[in-house]
Amino acid sequence: MSRITVKKSKVEHAQFYVDSCPFQAITADSEGYLSINDQCRICKLCLKFGPDLFSFEEDIPVNTFHQTQTKDIAVFLEWQHEKIHPVSWELVCKAREMAEPFQQKVIGILVGASLEKHKEEFSEYPLDEVVIYDSPDFIDFRIEPYSAAIIDFIQAYNPNVLLIGATPLGRSLAPRIAIACKTGLTADCTGLELRGNGALIQTRPAFGGNIMAQIKTPMGRPQMATVRPHVMNSKRVAHCSLPKTTCLSLEDALKNSKIKVLESRMKPPAQDLSEADVVVAVGRGIKRPEDLRMIRDLAQSLSAVIAFSRPLIEAGWADNRFQIGLSGRSIQPKLLVTIGISGAVQFSAGIQGAGYVIAINSDPDAPIFNVADLGFVGDCYEIIPQVSSLLKSLRKKE
Ligand SMILES: Cc1cc2nc3c(=O)[nH]c(=O)nc-3n(C[C@H](O)[C@H](O)[C@H](O)COP(=O)(O)OP(=O)(O)OC[C@H]3O[C@@H](n4cnc5c(N)ncnc54)[C@H](O)[C@@H]3O)c2cc1C
Repeated sequence: MSRITVKKSKVEHAQFYVDSCPFQAITADSEGYLSINDQCRICKLCLKFGPDLFSFEEDIPVNTFHQTQTKDIAVFLEWQHEKIHPVSWELVCKAREMAEPFQQKVIGILVGASLEKHKEEFSEYPLDEVVIYDSPDFIDFRIEPYSAAIIDFIQAYNPNVLLIGATPLGRSLAPRIAIACKTGLTADCTGLELRGNGALIQTRPAFGGNIMAQIKTPMGRPQMATVRPHVMNSKRVAHCSLPKTTCLSLEDALKNSKIKVLESRMKPPAQDLSEADVVVAVGRGIKRPEDLRMIRDLAQSLSAVIAFSRPLIEAGWADNRFQIGLSGRSIQPKLLVTIGISGAVQFSAGIQGAGYVIAINSDPDAPIFNVADLGFVGDCYEIIPQVSSLLKSLRKKE
């Protein structure tokens, strides 16, 4: 771990240094001996005030995967319910786009049971190689053997980059692997770019979405990122040849787990916001839950799924699966109608993939109009019933 240390312990004007730390991490005893406590956030301000007194010590990561030996982009192919999760294919396509200019390979890692019969599926996506860990021990997801398999793959292949879908499974797997490899991990990236020197620029909203941070992993390898479903696009390709497949196995001791899966049950299918072609999204411009009746009318006319901004989810108007945004779902509908939504960055982060956006808002300066293709400035309580009845009359004429 990196840390700030005190070079000379006893100083004059010790209180000056104590006061200069914004985190109250510097303490002084009665004789003027300074020390650093666990409040230290390594902001390094003390190095400016006392360059001779304080020093920054950075541990070189104990990383066996040395940067110069790493190459290629690996993608974890999440295997669930007899198929590969769509986010894995989105990441494969992104990996191919990044790998192409640098003649790097895109390698998929698949962990599961009875995978052999599904090989055909690989030919539809631009993979160079698929590394398979196929064993009855992987029939259910258990974190220890799954992460052991991926760590084994990393040791064998030394990939420069490892991409994982930000699904519940991926979110539990990725940090464990990053810790084991003593490397960095950027969660929920919205953009990825590979530079000529092999550095992966990982973009994601930070500080509550007020800035888009570009994050690098200067020391550790592989550079690890998770990406939520529907943030990247996936394209099936007419890829005539099957990628090379390599089967690896894990020693028995590494397949042990403290988790015993007693039973697994499928959740009842719910209306999936991420898959909807038409979405009507509602925000705080709608004042009462009973006013949703007019929204349901509109949604029915458009065959749309109704979604919400975060404040309405927090108010208990709907299940959090119907929240759009940074801490909700990313959606890619062909048509999105937003009603009484201001368009805060945290909301707009979830609609980047939307096709045509229509916004209804009474405030002409609402930021939602910056991302909308068509805007209606006005009271939604007047506009919505008119639009619904117009749609109904058009439907009758059909
Ligand atoms: C870390 C973090 C994560 C977040 N994640 C999310 C997220 O995932 N999703 C999300 O939505 N938010 C998220 N937020 C909250 C976000 O910052 C905004 O507060 C939220 O999106 C605002 O919701 P809103 O647009 O419904 O409400 P408001 O900002 O209050 O906007 C209401 C809008 O309705 C308009 N309006 C009012 N009356 C009418 C009317 N009669 N007719 C038409 N228009 C009307 C107003 O002009 C206004 O623009 C997050 C915040 C943080 C800090």
